[in-house]
Amino acid sequence: MYAPHFAAALALKSRTPKAPALALLVGAFLPDFLWAVLAALGVEPTARAVFFDDWSHSLATVALQAVLFAALFRRRGRAVMLAVGLGVLSHFVLDLPIHPQPLALYPHSAIHLSLGLPEVSRRTYWWLQAGLVAVLAAVYVMGAREQRWPRNLVAATCVTLASLQLIML
Ligand SMILES: [Zn+2]
Repeated sequence: MYAPHFAAALALKSRTPKAPALALLVGAFLPDFLWAVLAALGVEPTARAVFFDDWSHSLATVALQAVLFAALFRRRGRAVMLAVGLGVLSHFVLDLPIHPQPLALYPHSAIHLSLGLPEVSRRTYWWLQAGLVAVLAAVYVMGAREQRWPRNLVAATCVTLASLQLIML
């Protein structure tokens, strides 16, 4: 899923305008970037029977990624660090309900976290994502209004988000 992660970064940007938009976007997708690298290296096999993504997507390693990535922005102040760190953590929260497999507490942990939804149909999965995008877009719009950002920019951003979600149909 892409649109909910984009929407999370935008919602954070509207609440912490000092945080660089690119940092928030990269942070919101960081576990997937790491996953792509580890999958290419064969560390995290993607075949359904042997699927494994504990290094990129477990709660502990996502939290570690959040801390390390946020630390890169320590010169920009606590608020920016917090926003960037939350962006990375949001990846775990948004993946949790609809990940291909339950997410591990830490790599090779016997404990896996799940809301029991990975078995839902593709259509239900899409609607669930659309709901997440709508909620996060609402947070973004409210924050953007407080920041007095140009309405056409905010509207264009919302259209882009909706389009991103629609192409996943
Ligand atoms: Zn992910």
